[in-house]
Amino acid sequence: MTAPYDANNIFAKILRGEIPSHEVYEDEETYAFMDVMPQGKGHCLAITKAPFRNILDVDQANLSAVIATTQKLARAVKVAFSADGVTVIQFNEPAAGQTVFHLHFHIIPRFDGVALRPHTGQMEDQNVLAENAEKIRKALG
Ligand code: AMP
Repeated sequence: MTAPYDANNIFAKILRGEIPSHEVYEDEETYAFMDVMPQGKGHCLAITKAPFRNILDVDQANLSAVIATTQKLARAVKVAFSADGVTVIQFNEPAAGQTVFHLHFHIIPRFDGVALRPHTGQMEDQNVLAENAEKIRKALG
C-alpha cells in the first residue's frame, strides 16, 4: 500500500501556478518543464496534470498520455541539443529515489563520454534553464 497523494507537493504547486517553472510543453493531460537541478544539459520532466503519486497508482489513460509526452520530449531534446542519446528515468517511492510525489518522467539528453550529474544535485542558473527551454520548445515545433 503506497501513501496517498499529497496536493501540497511541489509539482502540484507548479500545476496550480503557485510556483514558477520553465515550461516546454503542455496538452490537455500533461505538462512538461525544465528540471531545476539537471543531471545533464536539457534535463526536463513530463508530468500528468491529474494527481497521481507515481506509477503505482496512475491509471492507464494518464500513463499513456504522459508516456506519449515523454516520447515527444525525448525526440525534441535529441534534436535541440544534438544529443547522442536520451535517458528516460522514473522513480517510485523513497526507497527507489523518488523525492517529489507527483508522477513524473525524467528526460535527459546524453552525450558520448559524459556522465550524468548526481540526482537532485546543484541548482542550475535560471537563464540557462530559460535558454534550454526555448531550444526544446523550438525543436517541438
Ligand atoms: P524524483 O527523485 O524523481 O522525485 O525527482 C524530482 C526531480 O524534481 C529532481 O530531479 C529535482 O531536481 C526536480 N525538482 C525539484 N523541485 C523542482 C522545481 N521546483 N522545479 C523543477 N524541478 C524540480
